[in-house]
Amino acid sequence: MHAPSEAPPVQMVLRAYPPAPARVALEYQPLPSRVVKTVASLVLFWALAPWSVLVPPYYPWPVLCMCTGAYLAHMFWTGRYRVRHFVGVCPRCGRQLRLGVGERINLPHTLTCFACHFEPVLEVADPARVPEPEPLRHAVADCTGTWTEEWMWDDRFLACDGCGARRPATDDLRRLAHAENERGALLRQLADEGRFLS
Ligand SMILES: [Zn+2]
Ligand SMILES: [Zn+2]
Repeated sequence: MHAPSEAPPVQMVLRAYPPAPARVALEYQPLPSRVVKTVASLVLFWALAPWSVLVPPYYPWPVLCMCTGAYLAHMFWTGRYRVRHFVGVCPRCGRQLRLGVGERINLPHTLTCFACHFEPVLEVADPARVPEPEPLRHAVADCTGTWTEEWMWDDRFLACDGCGARRPATDDLRRLAHAENERGALLRQLADEGRFLS
């Protein structure tokens, strides 16, 4: 039997970068079941520890039992949610982040980006907090890519074909993207003509 999953509004945040989009489906682990599983892990593995010493090669087993019990207990105790589904983009480099299905996490949850090795945080986005107008930023500082609008996870996003940055397609950002694309096209045109003339 599965508890219904929740999909809180989340985003990926990393200091000094604009937040990046994320979607998550979580299964809440009620406190009583977490307590039962935590206690069961400790009781089972720690009770096994003194007996495991009778099995060759003897000494590693009790240590392994103690560690496994402690690890499972910690996981069940702190993992308030079980991950059903996750998609998210790194705020720094625009690559997809990974979070395994079935992992037990709490929010906010720190992830490691395997592309740029920074540690963005998955957190609940506060809908009451009005986002301050942010500039349309690329993931890479001197990127000259072109913005196109695309569907991602049932929402419209502005995507850069150069650095892979994804920004929500709000009216303001759409205008900025349009202006930037035109400026880029003009610059490319001038560069071409310059090459032709010289
Ligand atoms: Zn990254
Ligand atoms: Zn870019």
